[in-house]
Amino acid sequence: MDIKEQILQLREALSQHNYNYYVLDEPSISDFEFDTKLKQLQDLEAAYPQYYDASSPTLRVGGAVTKNFETIVHAQRMYSLDNSYSKEDLMDWETRLRKMVDGAIAYTCELKYDGASISLTYENGLLVQALTRGDGTQGDNVTANIKTIKSVPLKLRGDYPDKFEIRGEIVLPFEGFNAMNAERIAAGEEPYKNPRNTASGSLKLQDSAEVAKRPLECLLYSIVGENTDLKTQFENLEKARSWGFKVPTIAKLTDSIDGVLEFVNYWDIHRHELPYETDGVVVKVNSLFQQAELGYTAKAPRWAMAYKFKAEQVSTRLEHISYQVGRTGAITPVANLQPVELAGTIVKRASLHNADQIEKLDVRVGDWVYVEKGGEIIPKIMGVDLERRAADTPKTVYLTACPECETPLVRKEGEAHHYCPNDKGCSPQIIGRIQHYISRKALDIEGLGGETVALLVNEGLILDYADLYELTTDQIIHLDRMAEKSADNLVNGVQASKDVPFERVLFGLGIRYVGETVAKKLAKHYKSIEALSKATLEDLETVDEIGIRIAESVVDFFSKEANIQMVSRLILYGLQLQLSEEALSNQTTQLEGLRFVVSGVFETVSRDELKALIDSNGGKVVSSISAKTSYVVAGANMGPSKRTKAESLKVPIISEPEFLEMLS
Ligand code: AMP
Ligand code: ZN
Repeated sequence: MDIKEQILQLREALSQHNYNYYVLDEPSISDFEFDTKLKQLQDLEAAYPQYYDASSPTLRVGGAVTKNFETIVHAQRMYSLDNSYSKEDLMDWETRLRKMVDGAIAYTCELKYDGASISLTYENGLLVQALTRGDGTQGDNVTANIKTIKSVPLKLRGDYPDKFEIRGEIVLPFEGFNAMNAERIAAGEEPYKNPRNTASGSLKLQDSAEVAKRPLECLLYSIVGENTDLKTQFENLEKARSWGFKVPTIAKLTDSIDGVLEFVNYWDIHRHELPYETDGVVVKVNSLFQQAELGYTAKAPRWAMAYKFKAEQVSTRLEHISYQVGRTGAITPVANLQPVELAGTIVKRASLHNADQIEKLDVRVGDWVYVEKGGEIIPKIMGVDLERRAADTPKTVYLTACPECETPLVRKEGEAHHYCPNDKGCSPQIIGRIQHYISRKALDIEGLGGETVALLVNEGLILDYADLYELTTDQIIHLDRMAEKSADNLVNGVQASKDVPFERVLFGLGIRYVGETVAKKLAKHYKSIEALSKATLEDLETVDEIGIRIAESVVDFFSKEANIQMVSRLILYGLQLQLSEEALSNQTTQLEGLRFVVSGVFETVSRDELKALIDSNGGKVVSSISAKTSYVVAGANMGPSKRTKAESLKVPIISEPEFLEMLS
């Protein structure tokens, strides 16, 4: 088989697997097989750039960076929808419809997906453009980001028209949303508030590789334009599905408002079982001919109507406010409620977020509060029923001392949370830090779980993670539920963690804001804990993607004697606190002090590999050209505006071979 054929076959196979996995939800091969094939294709494409294809599945990983999203006028306006809230509203709507069209009216009922609207344009079966709704008249060109979403077909199948637009919603299913938040919490970051905002925020990220990492989905609901011979909305949905789009099968065709209400009532209850968020139902006149007759008002189509589910709200009594201390010392106030049923579960607690939120709602113990369950998993307090408040209810005074160790709390300028500063003596912080240290993405210590950590701390056997390395089987064998075998496992697991590479140890140290990715960046840049511990604020800030917030946190960590001692002990016990020989051997300082802008498509290496080369040879990759840029490495299709800018600032433009020459 010749190379071209091989490339085409791999692309075909990978597209089919993407489709099976992300559109049909029926994976046909293992992740490992998929990754192997993808790697094969990436290698072939890198070696044979003449077969470049803008629809290749390898482009799903992203890489293109957009500084300013181009604004583009929609070929057809993206309207909003009129809302209805009751059976009467729907009946009134039907009466209006009957005055404007002849004949029987049938309706398609669909779920109203709660995310960010998107309009996709396909030409000859290929995705050529993706626009956000914007103000309805014009939106932002987010094509590069949308291409990374696996359920968006880059290439269609079947009998699609030459050119058409299709609209849908980008959503973030709960499962992916929760996983993203778990990662943020592990890095000591504020979790995202809800899936909808996170989905719409994702569309405007500058780095498409970041978008690629987010588990977004695209659900389609309408074909725009007159290029098809379809006659109804329901057929539209089926057609779009046959072309390879993800079109939810939860849709119903009915010929009466009663039929619509059945659908509404069913999903009002069962929506909690869906993998993504929905805030209502969209009812559409099924006949496209009738739709055309009905047309649009200034704001919305006359032929469609949203039916909004009532946000599920109950009122209950606030029994008391408790305060939780996180691993970083952040205090979270929690409302403890008189148990009440809401959206199918019994709710006993709700988050109050922080002092400002309590102040804003003016919630007081004893109040009757309105509790809602939105996209978030933890219910929220929306307000207080002031009529039921007893006259002598005292105003809530926020906690001033840590509930665990009684240290006075501090609150930094501009931060939402109060903190307990007693990081070395406050037990939830001590336990939380060690739990983080042993977690899977950090030191991944086998044979030791979160509860055992708490037990070891409470028994006074360990105070910080360095103490783990002095634990003996004899010490722990006496503990509750600890058999000899598990004691051995624990000690062995701890010993084995000495082989874990530097970047993961660095992540495990639990420096605030130093998540997995930041830890990798810092490890690579500084190469050893020793160098990192001596870095100044200014120095840290020159590292790619390290901002002032992270820099301050790192400097703060190493300014504490206790932390320095703990790290020294880890070095003594033999942990990896510098890059290994192997990692180092791929590194040079040849490009030290040089700043590169990378633009276009490359032949022998991918754009990411090129950036990694610059990085590991001491150079710095920056995203926009300025007078400080040393070189622009230009591949094929470099943007003309970049070229002009480089020329006007007299920044040398070099080709890929010239760059590789610099390194050899
Ligand atoms: P609104 O923004 O509340 O006026 O509602 C209009 C938005 O609902 C549209 O821009 C769509 O993005 C979104 N939407 C979600 N699901 C659907 C659906 N099944 N049909 C039409 N629009 C939908
Ligand atoms: Zn404390």
